Amino acid sequence: MKPCRRSHQFVWLASSLGSGLWLLLTLALGSCTNAAPPADPYAAYRPALKAAFQQDLDLLGLVPRYAISATLDPTKNQLFGSARITVPNNSNDPWTYLIFRLYPMLRHYGGNLVVQSALVEDRPTPFVYISENTAVRLDLDVPLLSGREVSVTLTWRLEFPRWNDQTAVYALFGHSQQMVSLPLFYPALAVYTDGPTLGTGQWWLDIGSERGDSAFHPISLFSVTLTLPASWVAVTSGTEVASEPIGDQARRVYVTGPSREFLIHASPLFNQVTTEAYGTRVTSYYLPGEEAAGRAALRYTAQALRIYSDRFGGYPFVDLRVAPAPINYRGMEYPQVILLGVETYGRFRDRLELLAAHETAHQWWYQIVHNDPVNDPWLDEALAEFSMRLYIQDLRGNDQAEQLARQRWRAPVEGLRSRSQDAAVDQPVQAFLNGSQYETIVYAKGAIFWEIVRERVGERQFDRFLRSYVERYRWQIVDTEQWLNELNTLSDPALFTLFEEWIRQPPPVGAP
Ligand SMILES: [Zn+2]
Repeated sequence: MKPCRRSHQFVWLASSLGSGLWLLLTLALGSCTNAAPPADPYAAYRPALKAAFQQDLDLLGLVPRYAISATLDPTKNQLFGSARITVPNNSNDPWTYLIFRLYPMLRHYGGNLVVQSALVEDRPTPFVYISENTAVRLDLDVPLLSGREVSVTLTWRLEFPRWNDQTAVYALFGHSQQMVSLPLFYPALAVYTDGPTLGTGQWWLDIGSERGDSAFHPISLFSVTLTLPASWVAVTSGTEVASEPIGDQARRVYVTGPSREFLIHASPLFNQVTTEAYGTRVTSYYLPGEEAAGRAALRYTAQALRIYSDRFGGYPFVDLRVAPAPINYRGMEYPQVILLGVETYGRFRDRLELLAAHETAHQWWYQIVHNDPVNDPWLDEALAEFSMRLYIQDLRGNDQAEQLARQRWRAPVEGLRSRSQDAAVDQPVQAFLNGSQYETIVYAKGAIFWEIVRERVGERQFDRFLRSYVERYRWQIVDTEQWLNELNTLSDPALFTLFEEWIRQPPPVGAP
């Protein structure tokens, strides 16, 4: 062991030069004593994050960690899985049970997920299906106190639906057109929200509808070992850190940084092209004969990543992927993956660019800053939709952006008003009459509100506002009240009047 003769000098220097240096010197002194450095609990996940965002892991605190092993058999439409899940209690309440959501059991997912065994700290634990079989409850022998963790091991079998192969089919979950989409193929820890007083918190058990998104997640970390036929190309969340052939199968290992969920989307038909954008590897997958559209999707996604990184704060991850999916001309966002309906690579090719721009924006509004998609859908959807305006403005100028706003948002909203179908934006998905009203109100009218805010506060202050929103709620969940607190930082009471007018109450017919 080397003597540490310079310690006193360092301490004196540190006390006279400030706290940042103090930290550095404390670390230097620590190494001087030859004490073993503490093991890095996040070492396994670091490959998923760019160097400038490694500190996100260090600042994350205790979050659920999933170590999943899954075997996918696309010929039998089955997946067998097991997971060891470290569950921290981040609430103020003690937990006497845990809830895991079984999203494949949602009617519009059409899957069947059977939990085969459950262990808590390696002891077999009884579980019951609740909430129309869309969740299991595990009763704990000993309450899990606030700030403590428990280890849960689950095994399950998943049967996923085989839909027909028409390109017009909308198959968010399951097998269609030689693609298998498996978001949430595992039991997913439910969100727990503290109540107004101790002991009044609740687990989130809502059952969404096909109209909007259905899944709500605490931020988590994943390591996933996936075994699938070697000829199948897997498009996943995270970054691949290992792969090996096992006969005609391939075993691939992925890790994520902070992530809402882990997606597996796979096909034996995918080809791929890649590019680099601000230190992120962007990969675009495409089906045979659609290389031009695949290259275009790559370009749009990389452009969107750069524009939004400049506007909202950097994209933190090493990988971003874009791929076609059996969801007709619609899109869907997942952590580090955007899926675009197969028809936008062909018949509806003119929709590909804006769809890619909308879905890429969800990497900020959904993945980094999250919200309840069933009860507060406007929080991410209106902003993802509005983000497209920034994309067009930065690429093609303000006139084109104005045209987009007029055609895509103002004209449909005026149409709804002329039919007396205007409604408040800030409503649960189920409150809307139909899909068309939901999309026009939540997406288009919500985006118009964002436009009005931007016009009022000016572009520079608006950009600062969005960046500070991302920073304050980074990897967290917001609700509308918290969002209003954030709006309050702009110190303009007129914004609340506009919020009441545009988000809470339908304005009178004939208003601009
Ligand atoms: Zn969206």
